[in-house]
This record gives sequence, C-alpha cells and structure tokens, in this order.
Amino acid sequence: MINLDQSIPCPVCQTKIPFDTKQLLMGVQFSCPNCQAAIGLSDQSKPLVQETMDKFEELKKNVAK
Ligand SMILES: [Zn+2]
Repeated sequence: MINLDQSIPCPVCQTKIPFDTKQLLMGVQFSCPNCQAAIGLSDQSKPLVQETMDKFEELKKNVAK
C-alpha cells in the first residue's frame, strides 16, 4: 500500500516530517519541525520515488473510470 499520508519519520527523532513529493523530486529539502534535521532525496532514490508516483497516478486513473 502506498502511503498517502505524505510524511516520513525523522531519522533523528522519529517526528513525522510532512513533505510534498513533487517538491522532493525537484530536490527540495524538508526539515524536521522538532530537531531541524534536513531530509532530502538522494539521486539514487529519485527513480524509485518517481516510479511509485507514476504507479499511483495510474491507480488514480483506473479508479476514476
Ligand atoms: Zn527530528
């Protein structure tokens, strides 16, 4: 199941960090509201996230039919 709640646990303090997938893909970094740790997407992870988003878009189209 794709996580539609767009937040990921902070690697430092586990606080949920809200993020926007599109912005993340553009290389924007998001910081933890609790400890200010910055999270961003590594270049290696981008194709995987993009693929997941593409699949999700497909899924939405199929549901809309
Ligand atoms: Zn944190």
